[in-house]
Amino acid sequence: MAYLQLKGIEKFFGEHRAIKGIDLDIQQGEFVVFVGPSGCGKSTLLRLIAGLERIDGGQLTLDGKNITHLPSSKRDLAMVFQSYALYPHMSVYENMSFALKLAKVDAKVIEEKVQNAARILNLTTYLQRTPKELSGGQRQRVAIGRAIVRAPKVFLFDEPLSNLDAALRGQTRVEIAKLHRDLGATTIYVTHDQVEAMTLADRVVVLRDGVIEQVGTPLELYDRPANQFVAQFIGTPQMNVVPLNQLPPLVQHQAPADAVGGAIGLRPESVTVQATGHTPVTGTVDLVEALGAETLIYVSTPSGAQFVARQNERTQLHAGEAVSLDIDTSLAHWFDTTGRVVGR
Ligand code: ATP
Repeated sequence: MAYLQLKGIEKFFGEHRAIKGIDLDIQQGEFVVFVGPSGCGKSTLLRLIAGLERIDGGQLTLDGKNITHLPSSKRDLAMVFQSYALYPHMSVYENMSFALKLAKVDAKVIEEKVQNAARILNLTTYLQRTPKELSGGQRQRVAIGRAIVRAPKVFLFDEPLSNLDAALRGQTRVEIAKLHRDLGATTIYVTHDQVEAMTLADRVVVLRDGVIEQVGTPLELYDRPANQFVAQFIGTPQMNVVPLNQLPPLVQHQAPADAVGGAIGLRPESVTVQATGHTPVTGTVDLVEALGAETLIYVSTPSGAQFVARQNERTQLHAGEAVSLDIDTSLAHWFDTTGRVVGR
């Protein structure tokens, strides 16, 4: 049996069914990321697991125990919020020890646990400061430290990095990954950032509209998305999805029968742009983005199809230039009219 098991979990806000019968098994020690567009229900699902919202249907089991209606404080889970939720007038040390003190843990044990967490998080020299004397990244580490000292069965993170700037976000992401490697704690992490999802997760859960669209390892989702939604949600730049009727007959004829009326999906690295050539697809360069290590070339065709190609080499091409596209259909994903993958 899974360590944390969700069975037919339901949540209504008034008439609105925000979570629609979610089934999910999470193993002990796993790092699972909930990802999806704004409003898909990822925070709600996390809050249901945390016990911060009432579960309206289904069953939640942790380590063999039914916790569906157990109060949050009795669930043995620790949540780290986007807003950090630190006590402003307490020192870092007091913030980190607060829950243990409430639980009447021995002062010597508290000292040991806080010092240990501070060492892991590089906070040792900041223990006497108050939150306002810390940077955003340091505050976030205190919030994580507060969760660590409790040694919960499961760590829950709700968009913990979204208040940090890009550089700090990248750095803190690496720290969270390291922390998980060191502690091996079961972790559920909510983000709308698919790069965070891809880099942190053992398994990613893609949500849309209160429903799970797909669950898989990051590379499973990238290489074998189940549908157009997942295909375009995972990967930057987005997968090119082009209606078959915008492509020349030569390409259309390679589509499987079920894809008739549907679309072709190609990752940007599966499209090559040539200055001249005899490929069936021709177009005009709209934009070149030279990012240093890679170059993105945006092309549109007379039939209205739009492509972005990614290459490691730099390019002499520029906007307005006529080009040919080399499309490797052996790397294509084929979608039917409903967006389901019917071949690759
Ligand atoms: P975001 O990335 O924007 O935070 P999310 O995927 O976390 O989005 P949720 O916050 O879980 O989405 O919201 C899911 C749906 O439930 C949305 O339609 C939202 O408007 C609705 N919702 C969330 N909380 C409440 C609430 N307390 N009362 C009413 N509706 C709510």
